Amino acid sequence: MICLTLAHKTIDECVSDVRMNRQYIDLCELRVDFLCDKDRERAYLFPSLVDVPVILTVRRKEDGGAYSASEKRRKELLLRCLDGDFAYVDIESDIKKGDVEEKAKQKGVKIIRSLHDFSGVPSDIYSKIYNLSQKGGIAKVCLYLNSFSDVLTLFRIQEELKGVEKIVIGMGPYGVCTRILYHFLGSILTFASSNEAAPGQLSAAELKRIYRADKINDRTAIYGIIGNPVSHSFSPVIHNQGFKTINYNAVYVPFLVDNIRAFFSLAETLKIRGFSVTIPFKNEVLSFLGNVTREVKQIGSCNTVVRVPGMWKGINTDYYGFIAPVLPEIESSRIKSALVIGAGGASKAIVWALRNYGVKVIILNRTLERAEDLARMNFCQYDSLDNISKYSKTVDLIVQTTPSGMVPYEDENPAEGYVFSGNEIAYDIVYKPKMTKFLIEAEKAGCTLKFGSQMLIEQGKLQFEAFTGYHYPQSIILDEE
Ligand code: NAP
Repeated sequence: MICLTLAHKTIDECVSDVRMNRQYIDLCELRVDFLCDKDRERAYLFPSLVDVPVILTVRRKEDGGAYSASEKRRKELLLRCLDGDFAYVDIESDIKKGDVEEKAKQKGVKIIRSLHDFSGVPSDIYSKIYNLSQKGGIAKVCLYLNSFSDVLTLFRIQEELKGVEKIVIGMGPYGVCTRILYHFLGSILTFASSNEAAPGQLSAAELKRIYRADKINDRTAIYGIIGNPVSHSFSPVIHNQGFKTINYNAVYVPFLVDNIRAFFSLAETLKIRGFSVTIPFKNEVLSFLGNVTREVKQIGSCNTVVRVPGMWKGINTDYYGFIAPVLPEIESSRIKSALVIGAGGASKAIVWALRNYGVKVIILNRTLERAEDLARMNFCQYDSLDNISKYSKTVDLIVQTTPSGMVPYEDENPAEGYVFSGNEIAYDIVYKPKMTKFLIEAEKAGCTLKFGSQMLIEQGKLQFEAFTGYHYPQSIILDEE
């Protein structure tokens, strides 16, 4: 079930939020603690104003809520609200609310016993959930995840506590994957909100339309992308749309990772079938692979991993994805020379691709040694990025391959000092934002532009084939924005 958290000042705002999201949700949670005093008094009316079951919650400040008056008044408020037709009431684990519980039971309202921890995952979390469940009702834990190891702990809850009716929420950026894959946590629901009421919350539309989170079941094949950062990635849109169109019971999830070994451990727990790899893991991932393609061997960087019998296999689709948008110009000899800024994982594939097509390449990098290594492997020139102005107006193609210019570094342009002639083709592989500072400067000079989104879509289609064995559906028009 997808539950919409309503954290607004007025009942009217809550009702309109439910109406706007009605097609995506199964129930909602009225956070009475966020309501203004006047509307708290009439909160009991709320269930009669919407056509979904409602959870009643009056969360204290120390548990991440907005209620700061006394416990006595909170209890009175809960009792008053229970005059309305709520389906569930949320009661914190450390609070004894005899009359609230009694009234809830009399009215057939289900009790959720909740525990919040904003500092991290307690070491005895499994027994804490078990103890909550023993009090009767649904056990609920909301935990802030500080690392990918915490993600792993959460996904093991289901192994430990299979028969327990529970709600499990991983908060914060590491928790996003747990909010989508809540079925695999054994959680009966996941929370969504229109205004990120809790850290890491997604919108109901994202959960339903992009991830089809409420349709995930034991047979759903899991794919994803690992990176740090990863929230900007467009790949979930590409792959999930593809899965839906070919009617494949699969989901593609962003995994924010700080420890690649912990991710591989999760990949076994969840039987993940394949994943994309982005910054900064394209090289680090190599040591976990049992088999790699010729491109990965030669490029030394891997952006796609698939499960094959007994091992993981690494593929590189960046190579083909990059070259596709400039291939006509290379084949017509409009592009004979190129300046490549950056010498990281993506640059390796790009330099290799350009050299394979006979383009003369100069690599410029912040760290000279990395430029030198890459240049040696590909028989090309290199220099320090500090000397970029020297190369002004000398090449047919200039490719920007660093994360500089990508959100949240939109104000940066690593090609500062380069003067465009206007005849160059300027290609930025960053795709968020589409128009980077680098491309804005190139456009001003009259250059032809190529966008990171073009590369992303092309390489994504090839990944889709590697994941599913099917061509990417032609009927899908991916919006490059
Ligand atoms: P990476 O392996 O970490 O390499 C990063 C490169 O950028 C290194 O050469 C690094 O220089 C340089 N760099 C980083 N910050 C810089 C700065 N502030 N100024 C100048 N140089 C800087 O990363 P990657 O995997 O190659 O990815 C790079 C970017 O490409 C990311 O933004 C990623 O999202 C994007 N990408 C897009 C696509 C697509 O399909 N459109 C595909 C792959 C990657 P040092 O060597 O000095 O550290």
